[in-house]
Amino acid sequence: MPKPGPLSLNTVTVRDRWDLAQCIEGCARHGIPGISPWRDKLAEMGVQRAARRIREAGLSVTGLCRGGMFTAADKAGRRAAIDDNRRAIEEAHILGTACLVMVCGGLPPGSKDLPGAREMVRDGLHEILPEARAAGVALALEPLHPMTCADRSVLASLAQALDLCDELGEGTGVAVDVYHVWWDPDVARQIARAGRRILAFHACDWLVPTSDLVFDRGMPGDGVIDIPRLRAMVEAAGYKGFVEVELLSRRWWAEDPDEVLRIVKERHATAC
Ligand code: ZN
Repeated sequence: MPKPGPLSLNTVTVRDRWDLAQCIEGCARHGIPGISPWRDKLAEMGVQRAARRIREAGLSVTGLCRGGMFTAADKAGRRAAIDDNRRAIEEAHILGTACLVMVCGGLPPGSKDLPGAREMVRDGLHEILPEARAAGVALALEPLHPMTCADRSVLASLAQALDLCDELGEGTGVAVDVYHVWWDPDVARQIARAGRRILAFHACDWLVPTSDLVFDRGMPGDGVIDIPRLRAMVEAAGYKGFVEVELLSRRWWAEDPDEVLRIVKERHATAC
């Protein structure tokens, strides 16, 4: 098995103890060449300042988390989501990131209209795409595990994401996160279908048992996902980019971030 592509740190991995400036310094200190910030921490630091510091540290921005969240109960809510996506595109442009990661949104509160929610996602993407294209920001649709369909993402499989990409065309692709796609019996075929449209590869692990649907992701190697096998699939499809380690985990958030980064680096080499 060839070595994994370069490591990127998704900053959510150490979100409770480090701000973005500390994440940038931490990546530089640990020799991690990529970084993927979240917008709340980016706003805290200031986008221009963050972009400058990231450049000075010699890091590549492998993604900005996140745009999307198009679904809302009323028109005003949907409009606010579009406006927020416009700001996200602008931020992604300033950062010079590889892509803006799109987590598309769950059912609006009180709604049972799943097809309707999916239409909102589709409409929202169509609306922001011209601006994303003009800014040179690729939209990476990230299908989430179906367990989050109600509250986070009605986009729940790679096949569904790629159908949307087929429709939207240039400037769109997918983020393949092993945590969200590993269970899918169609994953090999869909990754091959995605081809060059794979814009990001996210790694973490599925723990058994899983104690929380969102905040109990495992460190690569600690769970049941065959990460190297999935990586081989995305590479065979043409992906040559970073392996971004992204942990949303109360267990790891409690640890010393320098220790977390040390382990992330080791697992990138041995378990990805
Ligand atoms: Zn992800």
